[in-house]
Amino acid sequence: MRCPFCGNIDTQVKDSRPAEDHVAIRRRRFCPACGGRFTTYERVQLRDLVVIKTNGRREDFDRDKLERSIRIALQKRPVEPERVDQMISGIVRRLESMGETDIPSKTIGEIVMESLARIDTVAYVRFASVYKNFQEADDFDRFVSELRPPVKADE
Ligand SMILES: [Zn+2]
Repeated sequence: MRCPFCGNIDTQVKDSRPAEDHVAIRRRRFCPACGGRFTTYERVQLRDLVVIKTNGRREDFDRDKLERSIRIALQKRPVEPERVDQMISGIVRRLESMGETDIPSKTIGEIVMESLARIDTVAYVRFASVYKNFQEADDFDRFVSELRPPVKADE
């Protein structure tokens, strides 16, 4: 497990115990490179996620594909790689906890844009402009207007 603080891959498990009424294993980890401590949770994934494309086709969810599109959007942006990893894991966790294994690609796109908007505006616009090809133009306008800071009436 990669250290979220310094990126070192060789971290140690100090302690493992059941959590959340035995549906997860909580592991406390230690990074010998930077002294960082963090916790991971191991959970069963009962079913694999399926993406429902806009044309109705179904396709297995591919984390690598999601990661590639996000990394392209973030190219040359001043965002820490660890932060990107955390963001991607956060997106996948959100998808997995939606209660449905079949997820419309639109939903995934919206979650990605929401996450990108929080960490880098330029990457968000890049991603949204690509995503636009799959959506109605007025949807895209809405995304961009949400991006802009609200204008005060007296300005
Ligand atoms: Zn570390």
